[in-house]
Amino acid sequence: MQAQKMNIEMMKQFNIISVLRVIRERGPISRSEIAECIDLSRPSVSEIVSDLIVGGWIRELTASPGGRGRRPIPLEINPNGRYVLGAEIGAYQLSVILCNLNSEVIGQSTVPLTEGVTPELALTEVCSMCESLIASCRVERSLLVGIGVAMHGVVHPGTGYSVYAPNLGWHDVPVKDFLEAKMGLPTYVDSDTNTSALAELWTGVATGSRQFITMVVDYGIGAGIIFDGKLYRGIAHIEGQIGHTTVDEDGPRCACGNFGCLEVMASEPAIVRRVLKRLRAGERSVLSSQFDHWDENSISIQTIYQAARSGDELCKDVLRSAGRYLGIGMSTLINLFNPLFVVLSGGMAEVADLILPDIEDVIVHRALGDAGKSTKVLVSKFGKLIYPLGGATLVLEHVFQSPEAVAIPKSIQD
Ligand SMILES: [Zn+2]
Repeated sequence: MQAQKMNIEMMKQFNIISVLRVIRERGPISRSEIAECIDLSRPSVSEIVSDLIVGGWIRELTASPGGRGRRPIPLEINPNGRYVLGAEIGAYQLSVILCNLNSEVIGQSTVPLTEGVTPELALTEVCSMCESLIASCRVERSLLVGIGVAMHGVVHPGTGYSVYAPNLGWHDVPVKDFLEAKMGLPTYVDSDTNTSALAELWTGVATGSRQFITMVVDYGIGAGIIFDGKLYRGIAHIEGQIGHTTVDEDGPRCACGNFGCLEVMASEPAIVRRVLKRLRAGERSVLSSQFDHWDENSISIQTIYQAARSGDELCKDVLRSAGRYLGIGMSTLINLFNPLFVVLSGGMAEVADLILPDIEDVIVHRALGDAGKSTKVLVSKFGKLIYPLGGATLVLEHVFQSPEAVAIPKSIQD
């Protein structure tokens, strides 16, 4: 009897989430259309819809005029019915955003990370940034459903531990436990490459696609793989580490210990190093006159991007070379996974127009068969917002498939 009651209860909760997901994916949508989509009776749908409206999760729109009889009332997600926090713990910055249920950014703040910052200091700063946003956006705390963290390095999404964050020097940091204890909100943590793929899937250029790969190129390089509509996960959470595959065995040593990894040939720090090397060797560039002493701190990747945009041949050439290495990495991903398309994401997406022809040229020569060679490379529209937005999307991904996250009105539970 107890088991039967539990089964009925689970079925009710499953139906609530199904209705909510259909409204998110296909809204505006009427009650009868929902009933058709998920094969549920019209009265059951109406009951669930009423409670979701009372709970603030969805809202009714005005029925379209015209025709005979009662027009069906369209339903959609109530964008400001709930809010989520998304945080980036990157290699060199912390960034936090507050979003609504439609992933619209209500507020944002970013601070640089100082070298050697301790986990406690950085995580305390994340909490303080979250609290400031909640206050400045005047969002009622009871409407917040969680915090999602896009973490650089290797992450255990089950425990919410940062297993290894190479640029911060962190090992086994309990990010989820820390934030939940301080903020009192459910917290989800995943790698910034996985969360970037989720952001593209939910609201980006890959919305609704079931099979694609996001290559994130920034301080590091990694890939988020969407397989059959879900994130592909490896057994030890090192999936998508395309940045540490060898593209030049005679290349420089990478932080991982290997030589000539993609990351050490085509990431933003690698581009800075290559420009500096050529300037020191006496090559001419618009940058030559701007700096007296060359070192890696005196030139930023943005300076190189601007110089390339203004037509500087040296910077353009270094970017094109990085594009060719990225093309090799993408060809490997295409040959392994045969995705519908690859999304170029992260800081490098800002200069996509300068590197895309070289990436595409390499793919045409290296990917297998007509299908591989014709795989499109799309460009993310988010820039560096992809990281905190990915964190926020991680929360939404949990909320829209977890009955516990949706505050279910008592009338439905009984
Ligand atoms: Zn490496």
